[in-house]
Amino acid sequence: MSVAALADAYRTDEALRADVGTDMHLLVTRLFPICRSITGDGVRQTLSVVGELLPLDVHEVPSGTPVFDWEVPPEWNVRDAYVADAAGRRVVDFRASSLHLVSYSVPVRTRLALDELRGHLHTLPDQPDLIPYRTSYYARDWGFCLSQRQLDALAPGDYDVVVDTSLESGSLTYAECVLPGETSDEIVVSTHVCHPSLATDNLSGIAVAAWLGRLLRDVPRRHTVRLLFVPGTIGSLAWLSEHADVLPRIRHGLVVTGLGGPGGLVYKCTRRGRRPVDRAARHVLENHRSRDVREFSPYGYDERQYNSPGFDLPFGRLSRTPHGEFPEYHTSADNVDFVRPELLAEALGAVLDLLDVLEGNRAYRNLFPYGEPQLGRRGLYPTVGGPGAADDVMAMLWLLSLSDGTVSLLEVAERSGMAFPALRRAADRLLAAGVVAPV
Ligand code: ZN
Repeated sequence: MSVAALADAYRTDEALRADVGTDMHLLVTRLFPICRSITGDGVRQTLSVVGELLPLDVHEVPSGTPVFDWEVPPEWNVRDAYVADAAGRRVVDFRASSLHLVSYSVPVRTRLALDELRGHLHTLPDQPDLIPYRTSYYARDWGFCLSQRQLDALAPGDYDVVVDTSLESGSLTYAECVLPGETSDEIVVSTHVCHPSLATDNLSGIAVAAWLGRLLRDVPRRHTVRLLFVPGTIGSLAWLSEHADVLPRIRHGLVVTGLGGPGGLVYKCTRRGRRPVDRAARHVLENHRSRDVREFSPYGYDERQYNSPGFDLPFGRLSRTPHGEFPEYHTSADNVDFVRPELLAEALGAVLDLLDVLEGNRAYRNLFPYGEPQLGRRGLYPTVGGPGAADDVMAMLWLLSLSDGTVSLLEVAERSGMAFPALRRAADRLLAAGVVAPV
């Protein structure tokens, strides 16, 4: 088995894709109720579930640790949180959804009149049935999120507010999984683990990264593959600050997020653009019927940190319809039904196809460059025709025609309009027949 063989098998075996899609969706469903934030037991619980699928190295970074221009915040945990009416009925209840409590709410126990309470309640008036997702990481505050309909149903009067949280010195938790390759050149895949009960943002990214690791675990590779499960911003910065020795070895990086909802695949380029990962991703997306490749922008997920000028790492980002561009974004509608197994499966396929290119892209030299080498004599010309056979021949002809030792397989794919795997297979056949040699 090789990455190429794995990618080929995944691309052609519908039953395998369906099984993996179902398993990823089960993982999303299992992780969904957990209250995650940038620190706390929810992140640890999440990582321990992912750790059942692949070996994780879990790091704890103490509160107060300086991380570049930031500092690891106090650790936040929730025991309970609710708003109850005069009859003691919970009208907003954290136990029903982790979205109900503003993340990083400070502890509170008080009784407030509805009008005083309103200042701490967040709704989406334009989407009256949905609960918004709100955070207050770096400003000490508290609040609840609820649907506009829930708010409208609250009668005037006094309400008991209980925010039974702790905000204390502890640590920030992140995890990595390193799958060693033949070389120390690394491909890093990073995903954020800090969002509470939201499915595509970002349990989808966690599921795709986890299953990528599971599938790659026993497959020999040229590159070392490193998977990062980090809280957004402060978590990726903490990883960067603790891995200065790894950074020079990173050849390609990818942030995966928002992969389970509707919409085609979207790739966001690295800051410099035109890096090998950008070029490979553009080709892979075209073969997944998407031409949605976007230039870098300084807004988004952890690609902002990896690409910042001090690190200048070549991280692109793969998602479906990006954050902020779909109505379910950061609301209770981003639930387990919003995420579809087959969409998760396709996204994982795109990541495998990208790895296939990054692993297998190299230049070849045609050893018989004076005219066309005779393919029939070497058993390379199909005796049975058909469209597949014609494609195989065209792939070999393109490769022989362009392989002067300076043109990579990916370039041949771009110029010929053929998919990378077809050219990779052609190269393997020509190599076995002694017609080309790798440069
Ligand atoms: Zn988000």
